[in-house]
Amino acid sequence: MLLMRATAVPAVVAPYTVPMSDVPLIAHSLAEVYLYILATPCGSCGRGPLRGGEVEPCDDPAEGMTIGITATCGSCQSVTRWKFQLSGPPQAVSADQELVVNSTNEPSRMLDIAQWLTLFRMMTEAAGKELNKPASRRLAIEAAQCLDEALKFFEEDNDLPTKDAFFHHGSRERFRDHPEQFSRQRLLHLRSKLPTRWSMRPNGGSEPRPEGSG
Ligand SMILES: [Zn+2]
Repeated sequence: MLLMRATAVPAVVAPYTVPMSDVPLIAHSLAEVYLYILATPCGSCGRGPLRGGEVEPCDDPAEGMTIGITATCGSCQSVTRWKFQLSGPPQAVSADQELVVNSTNEPSRMLDIAQWLTLFRMMTEAAGKELNKPASRRLAIEAAQCLDEALKFFEEDNDLPTKDAFFHHGSRERFRDHPEQFSRQRLLHLRSKLPTRWSMRPNGGSEPRPEGSG
C-alpha cells in the first residue's frame, strides 16, 4: 500500500525534535500519518523532506493495527523508521481521494496545535497555487481539516489553547512570541472561509454545502 501521493505541498522543515522510539505513535488514520511525516524534519540533519515508502503491517498480531513506515530524507538520505498504531483499519491515501484525518473529537497525539497550524498554512498556500480546480478544492478541504485538528485543543469558552496543546519546545516558543496566532476566534474565522466535506459535518447534516459559503 502506498502512503505518499504526488502533491503540490512542500514538506515543512521545523525545529522539532523527532522522538526516536520503538513505541508506536498513536494515529487516527493513515492520513494523519501522512501529515505527520510531512510535518517532521529529518532526525539526522534537521532538514528533509522525508519521503515515505510502503506501509508494512507488523508481524505481531498482538499489536493490532500497528504498521511500520520507512521514510528517506531528501537531503541526507538517512532512513527513519516509525511504528504507528492505527485506531481503525488503514485506508490508502490516494491522489483522487479526500483525506479523512480524524473523525473523532479527540485531539491528535502525534501533531500539536502549532504543527497543525503550519500544515494549515502549507495546504492553503498549495491550494492557492493549484490550477486544477478539483485538486485545489481538495487541498482546501485538507487545510480545513488541519484547522479542525487545531481547534480540538481548546476548551469551551477559552480563546487560547491549553498547555497540553504543545508537544515541542519550538511550538511553546511560537505561542509565547505570537499568542495572537493561536486565538480560537481567529481560527474559527479562518475556518468559516473554507469548504467543508459534507459527510463530515459535525451536526450530521446531509446537504452538501456549496463551495465558499458559510
Ligand atoms: Zn536528513
